[in-house]
Amino acid sequence: MWMEKMSIKVQENKEYLTSLDQAIGDGDHGINLSRGFSEVVSKISATNYNSSSDVLKDVAMTLMSKVGGASGPLYGTAFLKLSMALNEKESTFETFTTGVDEALNGIIMRGKAQPGEKTMVDVWSPVVKLFKETNEFNSDKLKDVAREAAEATKDVKATKGRASYLGDRSIGHIDSGSMSSYYLFEALAEVLSE
Ligand code: ADP
Ligand code: MG
Ligand code: MG
Repeated sequence: MWMEKMSIKVQENKEYLTSLDQAIGDGDHGINLSRGFSEVVSKISATNYNSSSDVLKDVAMTLMSKVGGASGPLYGTAFLKLSMALNEKESTFETFTTGVDEALNGIIMRGKAQPGEKTMVDVWSPVVKLFKETNEFNSDKLKDVAREAAEATKDVKATKGRASYLGDRSIGHIDSGSMSSYYLFEALAEVLSE
C-alpha cells in the first residue's frame, strides 16, 4: 500500500516536482519519479512476495533501473538498505527505525551529502531522528516533521547535486528531492494511520 500511495502522490504532484526542479535543476524530477513509481507499482502488483523485505528489494531494483538522474540510485539505495534491515526480522517499530536509519546512511554513503546541503538528506535525517526519539508511530508528527523539513530547504544554499551549480541563486527554492521525500513519508504516515 505504501508504494501505491506514493505513486499516486507523485503522479498528482508531477508538475509541481518538475517546477521545483526547473527552478534550480534540470526539470526532470517529476518525470523521473512518476515513471519510476508507476513501474514500481506495476512490478509489485504483478508479483507474489513472502515478506515486505522482498517487496522493498524489488522496489529498489526497479527504481535503480528505471529512474535516471541522481534520485534513482539514491532512492534505490535507500529501499535496498531498508529491505536488508527488515530481512528475517520481526516487524516492529524498532526494526523499522533501524531500517530507515540504514536507508539514510545509504543515501549519505552514495551521495556524500550531509544534512544542510539542500538535498533529500535534509528530510530523511529529521525523520530518522523523530523515529529514534519515540517508540511508536505517530502519523501526525511524521507528516509535520517531514513537511517542515522539506519546506525549510527553501532557505538553504545547495552545496550538493545540480542545484549547487547555482550557488547563492539556489536560495529561495524548495529542493525537489526533499519534497518527494516528504510525499514518501506522508504516504507512509497515511498507510500507518489507516
Ligand atoms: P538529477 O538532478 O540528476 O536530474 P533528479 O532531478 O531526479 O536528478 O533528483 C534531484 C534530487 O536528488 C535533488 O533535488 C536532491 O534532493 C537529490 N540529490 C541530488 N544529489 C544528491 C546527493 N549528492 N545526495 C543526496 N541527494 C541528492
Ligand atoms: Mg533533475
Ligand atoms: Mg536529470
